[in-house]
Amino acid sequence: MISKQLLAWYSLNKRSLPWRETKNPYKIWISEIMLQQTQVKTVIPFYRKWMSSFPDIKALANANYDDVLKHWEGLGYYSRCKNIHTTAKSLGEDFPDTFNELIKLPGIGEYTAKTILAIAYNKQEVGVDTNLERVGFRLLGLKKKSKFNSNRVKKFLEAIQDKSKPGDFNQALMDLGSSFCQAKAVHCSLCPITSECRATLSEDPLQFPEPKKNKPIPSVNVSVCIVYHNDRLLILQRPQNKMLGGLWEFPGGKIELGESKEAAVIREIKEETNLSILSPEYIGEVKHQYSHFKVTISLFLKSVSNVKTLKIKENYVWTTIKGLDKFALPKANYKMLELLNK
Ligand code: SF4
Repeated sequence: MISKQLLAWYSLNKRSLPWRETKNPYKIWISEIMLQQTQVKTVIPFYRKWMSSFPDIKALANANYDDVLKHWEGLGYYSRCKNIHTTAKSLGEDFPDTFNELIKLPGIGEYTAKTILAIAYNKQEVGVDTNLERVGFRLLGLKKKSKFNSNRVKKFLEAIQDKSKPGDFNQALMDLGSSFCQAKAVHCSLCPITSECRATLSEDPLQFPEPKKNKPIPSVNVSVCIVYHNDRLLILQRPQNKMLGGLWEFPGGKIELGESKEAAVIREIKEETNLSILSPEYIGEVKHQYSHFKVTISLFLKSVSNVKTLKIKENYVWTTIKGLDKFALPKANYKMLELLNK
């Protein structure tokens, strides 16, 4: 019954999204990875650009990683990009069509594997992400977030899935979860399955499941220096296994306790590049927020003449401002460039 109502609503109201125009497993895979932790409207232009540059797995496997990363620049969670490229290179032209094969690939978990199988291969699987889980908790009227209840939801959704249209069933629940049944807002009177929902009978459906308590976000202070030699700026590549892995940035780092901004930047530049800089010019402050911390960046500028002593462990490049376009940079570095331009 739920499935019937849901699919009837979906066939009339489904969102028109570029990855819904295809059943190609490569394209479904890329869209699903891009959509992790990222809103649909943000993903659309990235997906379009990606598909025009890397229309199939072979094109992606043959591409240079810096170019691939440039296409991901701004989407965040950069390990997703690395995993995609590594997987493309290992796969050849055949995309796996079983759960056991998919789950072994880097960056593909149970949700992604099952969603690819349902949408691209019409297999009877339900990929349960936070959206689908939330809808399931509400339909069953479950409050307590526990492994036991999450499993109940999973089994429930598998049991009610329309076996002839598994992909549509998954996508209909996704659309419902992002329209009428959001984490912080519900529109039960418009919902196509309201007659089957227990949470809607309560005074406050948003309490199903109980909302997480928000933890305060920690702050970090860092000092960064745009070091230039003639008309070229120094950028360093972040280690692949760290946050923002593979992206390029201006040198700098954390301000230690009791250390001044200037002392921190002088020490960081020495540690990272072996360059000794004196009296860098203070440009100003940039604030940026990541998903789990905030950062305040004190920005400095310094021209250097003798770069013979430069010693850097990671990759580095001296580039013109225009040449920066070729490199993927973290968002905070663009804010620094904006500040510098002012
Ligand atoms: S009736 Fe309300 S709470 Fe229940 S699934 Fe629909 S929108 Fe969500």
